[in-house]
Amino acid sequence: MISNILLVDDEAAALKLLADILSDEGYRLRPFNNGELALRSMAAVPPELILLDIHMPGMDGFEVCRRIKANPQLREIPVIFISAATELEEKVRAFQAGGVDYITKPFQKEEVLARVKTHVTLNHSLKEMKRIAEELLKSEANLKIAQAIAHLGHWEWDAHAEQFSWSEEAYRIFGFEPQNFPQDYDTFLRIVHADDRERVADSLKRLQSGSGFDIEYRIVLPDGEVRIVHCKSQLIKLGDDQKPKIFGTVQYFPQHDQATVLGIIQDITEHKKLEWRLEQLANTDALTGCASRRHFLETAEQEILRIHRYGGELSVLALDLDHFKAINDEYGHHAGDLTLKKLVEVCRGLVREVDMIGRLGGEEFAILLPATSCARAFEVAKRMCNAVAAAEVPLPSQTSLRFTTSIGIASFSEGDTCIDGVLSRADKALYEAKKQGRNRVARSCIIDPLVANAAFSA
Ligand code: GH3
Ligand code: MG
Ligand code: MG
Repeated sequence: MISNILLVDDEAAALKLLADILSDEGYRLRPFNNGELALRSMAAVPPELILLDIHMPGMDGFEVCRRIKANPQLREIPVIFISAATELEEKVRAFQAGGVDYITKPFQKEEVLARVKTHVTLNHSLKEMKRIAEELLKSEANLKIAQAIAHLGHWEWDAHAEQFSWSEEAYRIFGFEPQNFPQDYDTFLRIVHADDRERVADSLKRLQSGSGFDIEYRIVLPDGEVRIVHCKSQLIKLGDDQKPKIFGTVQYFPQHDQATVLGIIQDITEHKKLEWRLEQLANTDALTGCASRRHFLETAEQEILRIHRYGGELSVLALDLDHFKAINDEYGHHAGDLTLKKLVEVCRGLVREVDMIGRLGGEEFAILLPATSCARAFEVAKRMCNAVAAAEVPLPSQTSLRFTTSIGIASFSEGDTCIDGVLSRADKALYEAKKQGRNRVARSCIIDPLVANAAFSA
């Protein structure tokens, strides 16, 4: 690498000798016999190294050096002083003035070359280190911005020290000031929502297998806010060149020496809220607020599976408004809608939290009654029939309308592998209730063997 060196010496012979020694080695040189000229030249084109004589008429080397160090553009350039003096005091002054080294006259070729080479190399290394440090600072700043935009923080588990360290964004996600944030495992687990704690602890333990994890769990912030975080992590094996002090032997993962756990953590609360909202919309009937057909059938299917596994009872009511077409025709479609809402409202008042009302079609509804016998369902349905018949639908025209419903009941029996059979038996019973004159309950299930499949008036 060709280096640009500036030489300053009032002695022409000394200047020539230095120039000869250095140019033989390929250095590019700019010789000057006084400080003023040298300062002007270096201000125009800064050299990489300056060899500066101390004793010169007019401005001496110390003054030249003082001016170099006072100039922000030049102050980083290394200055090697030259002097015939061998007194310690002058050498000390040279270093105090900001010189990095000292060469005595008469010049020894090897000494000059060795000192120049050392400082040129050192200067290159320093510049490179500065550049890398600046880049590092820049990329760290970028990382912080990117993490803040993505609500993405990262953390590190030092298994040797049994300590977590967290990035700035991770602190924000967890709602902690950095100085209050728990570093140890147990305190961290206490931030995790009690219902998710075991799962998180299990996942952390499973890291022993080196498989990493990808989980969602809830955290409880110091102010009580609950957040859902997505946590991904991996076991990173470190190279031999890593300092064992930073990444020591892993105690929790004994088969992975020199390992540390790196992970990311992301705040997805808003995303989850939207997901829930979408799910809610898909699961709910927009007009009446009861379960949508899809949600009702899915839940009923789950209930059948549960009974097959754990046993138990299940009954289903099928409801259909009586002469609903006539209500629409007489009072209008809006009044029909209000009637549907009233039906659901009345039914809701008569069922438990665990029961589910679903709208299967226009004016057809079904009610899922888990852990309910046919006899019990029959009681509920009769009460429902009466309550519906007694209900009034207030109309905008200051009047109101009354309506009735027919209900069919079916209960789960051993042969039912899915909900379809139960629903179709409830439908048959409903048809029976309609046939018998409407505003009544019929059942397909057996209460008393003597009156099996009989239709009952409400
Ligand atoms: P039945 O006693 O035999 O059940 O007679 P119905 O008139 O109730 O039965 P039908 O099947 O003949 O008519 C159902 C009517 O329900 C026809 C349809 O226009 C109406 N309907 C279906 N969905 C809605 C709705 O969302 N709002 C309103 N207002 N009417 C609806
Ligand atoms: Mg109908
Ligand atoms: Mg009807």
